[in-house]
Amino acid sequence: MIWVLSESGGKGIVPATHEALAAGRILSDSLETGCNLIIPGAGLAEVPKGLIKKADRVYLLEHPLPGSYTSECVGLALAGFLRGRKVFALIIPGTSIGKDITPFLSISLGLPCAVNVISLEVTDKTVYLRRPLYGGRVVERLSLKDGAVISLMPRAFTEAPDKALDAELIRVEAKLRENGLKVKSTQIKKGSDIKDIVEAEVIVSGGRGMEGPDNFKLLEELAASLGGVTAASRAAVDAGWVPHSRQVGQTGKTVSPRLYIACGISGAPQHIAGMRTARYVMAINKDPNAPIFHEADLGVTADLFEAVPLLIKAIKEERR
Ligand SMILES: Cc1cc2nc3c(=O)[nH]c(=O)nc-3n(C[C@H](O)[C@H](O)[C@H](O)COP(=O)(O)OP(=O)(O)OC[C@H]3O[C@@H](n4cnc5c(N)ncnc54)[C@H](O)[C@@H]3O)c2cc1C
Repeated sequence: MIWVLSESGGKGIVPATHEALAAGRILSDSLETGCNLIIPGAGLAEVPKGLIKKADRVYLLEHPLPGSYTSECVGLALAGFLRGRKVFALIIPGTSIGKDITPFLSISLGLPCAVNVISLEVTDKTVYLRRPLYGGRVVERLSLKDGAVISLMPRAFTEAPDKALDAELIRVEAKLRENGLKVKSTQIKKGSDIKDIVEAEVIVSGGRGMEGPDNFKLLEELAASLGGVTAASRAAVDAGWVPHSRQVGQTGKTVSPRLYIACGISGAPQHIAGMRTARYVMAINKDPNAPIFHEADLGVTADLFEAVPLLIKAIKEERR
């Protein structure tokens, strides 16, 4: 059986859950087995139709600690639920929570784990996974024999077409043991209403070349004209211009947008590690030898304070 873990955020089920279900369906359709979705938490009013149509069964794993995620709480509930059931693969969304809970579940269920998986294929009933290593310089191909906990690279899988299934909804009460760990309060950070960069289709990213926090307004205007969000290199984050939640790279987030526009970013390997899987990269840098141009599909050697306003103007004219 293939199991897929759903994740909920402030606005309901997160988009990465749809990607995880798409990955689950690749395996279940090829292996001719079922694909069940588990939604942990309590008080979910309605399960989106897009999920019901693609899963064989949806389990609502209700536990009495709503809204407060800890890997111990949700992990214990999930491990307790899955123990004793057949698990060939447990697919986990490529989010911060997904990264946190994957090793916990791997240990709890006694299954190996593979993180940051970018593709799944089945040949002669053997499952093969691919995942990037060393900042994307090499891609490892693994075969899967006896089951695994698999977390995905964000946006590596696109939503699966509807299967016209009508999943049975099953409510299960999670058995939780008191472990002394309780969330006393949750603080919503300023700016957390902005879309997570991991989910964005278009990212306009700024580096030290932005020269200060106020100049990021220019990138926000460009991002807004393309329906995207802004992000930054570590240099801009360390300078306090942009919050760490928007840092791309080895010590920030890994993003795979359709379009990544790098402005005033040199292209250090630690930055590239976080955006190498972007589908199309445009770089604006005044230094023609900046390494970012090696990663770019379109390189613009220019002063960004001249190039970006021209780009915004051109996009607005095009949209008129
Ligand atoms: C362990 C470790 C982890 C790290 N993790 C990360 C990480 O997660 N993410 C990350 O980004 N970095 C990370 N770094 C830092 C990384 O090595 C670089 O120092 C950093 O990425 C540089 O940021 P930058 O490109 O913005 O700045 P710089 O390297 O200073 O580049 C600025 C660029 O802007 C250009 N520029 C300046 N003015 C203009 C202008 N007006 N118009 C156009 N172009 C202009 C310059 O030509 C230059 O290329 C890490 C480093 C270490 C050691």
